[in-house]
Amino acid sequence: MHVLSLRPRAGIESSYEYVEGWGMAVGMHARVLRPRSTEEIAQCYELARAAGSTLTFRGGGNSYGDASTPGAGMVLDVSRMNRVLSFDSTTGIATLEPGVTIEKLWKTILPLGFWPRVVSGTMFPTVAGALAANIHGKNNFAVGTIGDACLEFDLVLPSGEVKTCNRERESELFHAAIGGFGMLGCFSRIVLQTKRVYSGNVRVRGESTRDLREMMQYFEAHKCTSDYLVGWIDCFSGGDASGRGLIHDAQNLHAGEDTDPARSLTVAHQELPANILGLFPKSQVWRILRLFNHDLGMRTINAAKYVAGRMEGMGQPYLQSHAGFSFLLDYVPNWKWAYGRARATHGLIQYQPFVPHAVAHDVHSEILERCRRAGHVPYLGVFKRHRPDPFWLTHAVDGWSFALDFKVDPARREGLWKLCDELTELVIGAGGRFYFAKDLVIAAEDTARFLPQERLAAFARLKRACDPETLIEGQLYRRAFRDWIAA
Ligand SMILES: Cc1cc2nc3c(=O)[nH]c(=O)nc-3n(C[C@H](O)[C@H](O)[C@H](O)COP(=O)(O)OP(=O)(O)OC[C@H]3O[C@@H](n4cnc5c(N)ncnc54)[C@H](O)[C@@H]3O)c2cc1C
Repeated sequence: MHVLSLRPRAGIESSYEYVEGWGMAVGMHARVLRPRSTEEIAQCYELARAAGSTLTFRGGGNSYGDASTPGAGMVLDVSRMNRVLSFDSTTGIATLEPGVTIEKLWKTILPLGFWPRVVSGTMFPTVAGALAANIHGKNNFAVGTIGDACLEFDLVLPSGEVKTCNRERESELFHAAIGGFGMLGCFSRIVLQTKRVYSGNVRVRGESTRDLREMMQYFEAHKCTSDYLVGWIDCFSGGDASGRGLIHDAQNLHAGEDTDPARSLTVAHQELPANILGLFPKSQVWRILRLFNHDLGMRTINAAKYVAGRMEGMGQPYLQSHAGFSFLLDYVPNWKWAYGRARATHGLIQYQPFVPHAVAHDVHSEILERCRRAGHVPYLGVFKRHRPDPFWLTHAVDGWSFALDFKVDPARREGLWKLCDELTELVIGAGGRFYFAKDLVIAAEDTARFLPQERLAAFARLKRACDPETLIEGQLYRRAFRDWIAA
């Protein structure tokens, strides 16, 4: 967000800013309110109502597309409510304000021998944004989503009423608001179960794979014994080598395996190195990446990464810190700037289809092939294994996702959206789903085709009950939900 001016109002911190999706391909100016308490959240609703405006909730702004950009109204940013309210180091239960980031959470609990059950590929999301998106990690196949690790939350409704929700109490709201992308109310307190760890390191093994089938076979053979599995794919490579890549397979250490846990469990041990390859200050690496941010450059980088991966695959397993393994993308601060920084015209989108196991190989292979044929080759492709969960709008299926990063530039934007529309038809036809935290292309009619009808109808009923005036309305709501909620 880029601050233009500051104007306090009704005691709540407020400013007029440019608010954009993380991928920079969408953004607009808006008034941003930053409450510091549950009472101030309720006042934000009143402010929006009095101004005839809508409200969109925002955490760390790490959703690639428009999940936390405003429709036309104000933004409620929870980042000032960022206290760890309590942590029980016998049970691993953390009670958190909504703006606590994943970074703050792990830095608080790791020295006590705990790690969040579910983290995203970056540590900068807030727990509220993570819960609203129902994020998954590289262990989704084993432990589910962050919703599965959530014990309870408080949700402030537009009426000002605070609902305490868990699996027994307000169970419908619990299962709808997790993964509900902030359409029902504002999280003001979140209780998460974290997990015990006996070392600040995980044991990592690299496995190079020649094609998509080999990668999937490896995942299937190891999913009952590995704690984390993630695959990188070279999307440029075609023919017999289509889908070639590198798997990272990691396991937590058992009690007693780490000879010096007091050292490895420190925050200092987790810090990502300040220089890449010992040479380049990491803050400047995006400038180097920018020189390669075209098809030829990215083809070269992907090929080089594959060769390096083959060598890694021949080596021995190695120890890596939890932060180093989990937040690989944070190694290069602002790497997205390599995609260009012109507001809402350049940047990147991520397209992440989730496809059922039985058809995943064929559908994902076809997606890769169509991208290459259309001349829109993803610069980064990440493959994961998933399991279903009980949350109403969940993206997760018993199957596989393929997260594809596409470069956006004005000359090719229309063609890219057309390709995504074609891929969406393919995925929906195969019984697949999409993840709104990564999305900027799905239309309302697509939403109504890939989410189960009874879940959508129940969600629409809850939306009308919780927010009868439609005070909460962001860009994602307008694009992908409003039509069928109003129907
Ligand atoms: C580099 C990178 C890697 C990523 N890797 C992964 C990954 O591995 N797995 C994964 O699942 N996701 C991943 N993501 C996506 C990211 O985890 C989600 O977009 C997450 O929602 C971001 O949290 P945030 O705090 O930034 O929320 P925002 O993006 O600001 O908001 C996300 C949603 O939460 C809602 N919201 C925010 N605060 C509240 C509140 N108090 N009450 C109710 N609703 C609220 C917003 O309205 C919005 O709909 C990645 C993103 C990036 C940039």
